[in-house]
Amino acid sequence: MTPSPAPAPADAPRTAGGRVFFVGAGPGDPALLTVRATDALHRADVVVFDALVPGEILTVVGGGATCIPAPRDAGEGGGDPGEATGRLLARLAAQGQTVVRLKGGDPTVFGRLSEEMAPVRDAGIPLEVIPGITAAVAAAAAATIPLTSRSAASSLTILTGHEAVDKREAIDFKSLVTRAGTLAIYMGVEQVGRWSQALLEAGRPADTPVTIVSRCSWPDQRMGCSTLARCAADFERHNWPSPAVVVIGEVAQAAAADVPRGPLAGRRVLVTRPAGQGDDISAAIRAAGASCLHVPVIEIGPPPSWEPVDDCLRRLDTFDWIVFASANGVRSVVGRMREARLDGRALGTARLAAIGPATRAELERSGLVCDLTPDLFRSEAIAEALGMMPAPARFLIVRANRGRDVMRPQLEARGHHVTEVCGYSSHPVAALSAAAAAAVEQSPVDWITVTSSLIAESAVRLFGPRLERWKVASLSPVTSATLRGCGVPPTVEARMAVGESLVAAMVEWERSRNAVGS
Ligand code: SAH
Repeated sequence: MTPSPAPAPADAPRTAGGRVFFVGAGPGDPALLTVRATDALHRADVVVFDALVPGEILTVVGGGATCIPAPRDAGEGGGDPGEATGRLLARLAAQGQTVVRLKGGDPTVFGRLSEEMAPVRDAGIPLEVIPGITAAVAAAAAATIPLTSRSAASSLTILTGHEAVDKREAIDFKSLVTRAGTLAIYMGVEQVGRWSQALLEAGRPADTPVTIVSRCSWPDQRMGCSTLARCAADFERHNWPSPAVVVIGEVAQAAAADVPRGPLAGRRVLVTRPAGQGDDISAAIRAAGASCLHVPVIEIGPPPSWEPVDDCLRRLDTFDWIVFASANGVRSVVGRMREARLDGRALGTARLAAIGPATRAELERSGLVCDLTPDLFRSEAIAEALGMMPAPARFLIVRANRGRDVMRPQLEARGHHVTEVCGYSSHPVAALSAAAAAAVEQSPVDWITVTSSLIAESAVRLFGPRLERWKVASLSPVTSATLRGCGVPPTVEARMAVGESLVAAMVEWERSRNAVGS
């Protein structure tokens, strides 16, 4: 048989016959989802998820999809709960829907996959399995240990510490000690006394290293090192919260139980910027060890009309300066130029200014050189810098449909000619999606980042009194003023209006409270 590549989820149009994707969600951090899993989640009409899947992952689900928790018991049809889930999947797909069965870790590892697939196969519904990072692999990475090693472990055995009661064959622990192999025990915390005893009796040395990783990649990840002889007592003492996975063998010797996790370790930060724009902030938050929950509270769209933009594009070379007040403006205008088959030549001798480093970076990504970025990233600062140019200069300011109008009066007061054009629009999100609301509720939020006045107003409307419990990180004095006006004084304010500075302010606050790190 010639192997043929499985069709990508992208091949499945939403309206065609239903199908089911069994998708691995990985250990919990959305950054550990595969690209293919993310794609399937974007395209799903329905997502049937496991209790093990954290809300952060559900925020990746496309806006129009419904999220349903998987049935916990067998329901009317009786039998195995896996089969009940399988029947639900088959029923949803038979309605023509694209169904994602989202499972923690990898769907093929302790996931009742065969039981769930059976009703789908029986109904003749096409299915596909998309792998995910399984707990043992994620835990090994977190603890910085290899699972196999040329000198100490030539095999890896994945086993359950909580064997199904009706299973005909019990695990043969004797066979597991004859090889110099690594063991990864899933669902093993409760029964640690039983399996550690069985391994010792089977002849595995008492000092065999044991590493446990609890809630791997979750904000409250913890890990610890022990030995086979001591692990039952150690686990009881530490009371590791589930889910937890245990790695046993020589490889676990090198586990870094105290892997430094950054000054914001264990913190959960709600990032409110629109999709694709909170990236610099999210990267800085993750680098500081916290987890990011993305819940955009504003949406970016095209300008109310393209006509004024097109008019300016036809005469770009008549301006001395083109000023971009945000990276969105750059994306929008450069995109429109491309559609009109215009490139840098259309700018003639016009010079380019950006309000801050993110806008500057967006210009440079588009192949355009930025001639001026003020030291302070505010409209006043850029107007001040540009106002000093010999008058009368001709300025084009690309801005949003809303926002403060400070540049124009300042420039005009200095005798310059100013044309303003609305390059894009931003709107508050009307309501939180069900997935976002569930993710926010699932575990406590420590911080929320607020990066503009519009975001501040929208967040206040969407989250209401919850903001009183969260610490608020504001990007700029203007945003802070809006927050205060809404009765939500910011906990910290960034020194400079960039993601790194925002996260630095959060770290400083946490350190000063001695809550974490330091
Ligand atoms: N399909 C999953 C396993 C499901 S069985 C996978 O491939 O990972 C459930 C067990 O998986 C838990 O009892 C625990 O042992 C392990 N597990 C799942 N997610 C985990 C996580 N984030 N951290 C530690 N262990 C995890």
